Amino acid sequence: MVPQPEAACMATHQDLEAIHLDHRRLATCLALLHTTCIHLNDHLGCDSCSYEQLGVCRGQLPSFIHDLVDILTSHFYREEALMLCMQQSGQLDGDFKSHHQAHVRILQRLNKLFSEVQQLDRSGRTEDAYFHFDYMMQGAMAEHDRRFDADLMVRMEKALKH
Ligand SMILES: [Zn+2]
Repeated sequence: MVPQPEAACMATHQDLEAIHLDHRRLATCLALLHTTCIHLNDHLGCDSCSYEQLGVCRGQLPSFIHDLVDILTSHFYREEALMLCMQQSGQLDGDFKSHHQAHVRILQRLNKLFSEVQQLDRSGRTEDAYFHFDYMMQGAMAEHDRRFDADLMVRMEKALKH
């Protein structure tokens, strides 16, 4: 869904701060994967963990997925609303459409990723589920940042200084 900015909207630094906060929440959520599955980097696998720990990892997986969808959906909406508002008031230019389409593609990719992750977990490969989740998300976010957000944040910061 594309946000509809109010007729006379004027972006402020607070709006931009909310976007930065989303980015930090996202990073915290992804970092939690590493503190939950402690073998995410060394690939020792679930065999080296206790049965209780495996239960914690398996139990946490659905809430990670839920949190991520939640953060990303509201973040993309907020970012797009701010972009539109700043474009409408002449504070910003740039290609809204391709950025919006990139967000849509990420959400579509996430849907597929989440069923892949759940499938891996259900087939007893919880460590692979965590690895796949982390690897794909980090990749998607880094690519999006490189192609869109890094530049957008700089331009927004600059525009709001005036
Ligand atoms: Zn973006």
